[in-house]
Amino acid sequence: MGRTIVTKLKTKPDFIDRKKLEHLGSLNEPDEGRRQEIISKARELKGLDLDEAAELLACSSPEAVQDLLSAAAFVKQEIYGPRMVLFAPLYAGNKCCNDCLYCGFRRSNTELTRVTLTREAIAAETLELLRQGHKRLLLLTGEAAEYTMDYTLMALETMYSVRDRKGSSIRRINVELAPMSVDNFRRLKEGKIGTYTCFQETYDPDLYRQYHPAGPKADYHWRLEVMDRAMEAGIDDVGLGVLFGLADYRKEVLSMLMHAAHLEERFGCGPHTVSVPRLEPALGAPVSESVPYPVSDLDFKKLVAVLRLTLPYTGIILSTRESAQLRSELFRYGVSQVSAGSRTNPGGYGEEQTREEEFSHSQFSLGDHRSLAEVVDNLADYGLVPSFCTGCYRMGRTGSDFMDLAKPGLIRQFCLPNGLATFAEYLEDYAPEELKKKGLTLIERIAADQQESIASMIRENSARVAGGERDIYV
Ligand code: SAM
Ligand code: SF4
Repeated sequence: MGRTIVTKLKTKPDFIDRKKLEHLGSLNEPDEGRRQEIISKARELKGLDLDEAAELLACSSPEAVQDLLSAAAFVKQEIYGPRMVLFAPLYAGNKCCNDCLYCGFRRSNTELTRVTLTREAIAAETLELLRQGHKRLLLLTGEAAEYTMDYTLMALETMYSVRDRKGSSIRRINVELAPMSVDNFRRLKEGKIGTYTCFQETYDPDLYRQYHPAGPKADYHWRLEVMDRAMEAGIDDVGLGVLFGLADYRKEVLSMLMHAAHLEERFGCGPHTVSVPRLEPALGAPVSESVPYPVSDLDFKKLVAVLRLTLPYTGIILSTRESAQLRSELFRYGVSQVSAGSRTNPGGYGEEQTREEEFSHSQFSLGDHRSLAEVVDNLADYGLVPSFCTGCYRMGRTGSDFMDLAKPGLIRQFCLPNGLATFAEYLEDYAPEELKKKGLTLIERIAADQQESIASMIRENSARVAGGERDIYV
């Protein structure tokens, strides 16, 4: 049935306007006056159009990029306040029938030890993540016949059912799984997923063909239209992404923006998140050894800022692929969700492993090896609120309902007290003593900066958490 819909979609015009992309992807840098004009518009929090985003992407001097970063920090602060959502990936299996030339899980990689987690192993991984303090997980697998919808639903059900010694459980599971049919998306929705994420990797069809020589993933359009199928099936929140390093980054960002505009036009709601993974070294993956289109740190920071200015209400996700130092910088400049304490090898949380052992099971190598507690500590140093909040999703504020709140800036009213309540929980239940002291001081400092009604809600929530209440949200 899903395939029937794909055929129907294929007859529609491609939403990536290739001619426009060629033109906008090679604009010259705007002069300072024009740059400031676009930045002033972005500061009104209404987003930018494609042409304006393209002009900002053409900026190259460090001063120009710094202007963009400052504006991105402002927009993020205005819409979300100081909160930073934290999550961890859970890899349930690394078998794969595809041969993506950049990925350690590719089928031709005979050096990789293949693993599929059983129900018990998934429960053990979940428990380990709960023990660290996580409440939001991302479920991933390779693409293989054994990762059926039944397997996925079993994994979700298992992950939601585990309780730690405090009685806490995982409250939201997002998924990053291979594209599927509308029927399977309907079943996936019953598994109570949060966001469905799938990266296009590259929007350039010729390069896409080269990097994906075999398996179902070789079908560019099956992947390009996956979000249409997900949304047709009633999945409210979807996440887009590009694997930076595979193609010209300016055209990739612009293509992703065209994709977002298409979803907004067709379903009345754009993507809930965009991810910005950069290509990392991976075992047995030739394209990861010599990155075809390297993206410098400066360009990477710039593209994150341009995404924040263009899509002010969309979450931007940064993973542990990036180094601790770069992540710490980007925490302040527009990113709103980060993974922490991650392992990309199935079963990796329960085991003590050397870096070499970890690499031999993993999808790619990590840039940030810090524990969740260390990342939380780092966020607190910047005055940012580490948030494990799942309030919106559980109150049904998803899809266009979430966007309706985010657009007039109302989401902050929920994010700050909710996020701080989850931070207080983390401090009570999981943080080392020094971090607890630092965190409680931060909560009080933030409360003192708010108007009276919000300040008293924050203080009341903290007192309730200290008194033993858990899972407080509005
Ligand atoms: N197998 C599914 C798929 O490909 O859609 C699920 C997601 S896969 C486990 C997660 C993502 O990791 C891929 O979409 C790809 O963008 C990214 N990835 C693969 N190899 C990578 C590498 N060497 N460096 C960074 N990211 C990589
Ligand atoms: Fe398989 Fe996904 Fe890796 Fe491609 S990116 S080889 S589909 S796990």
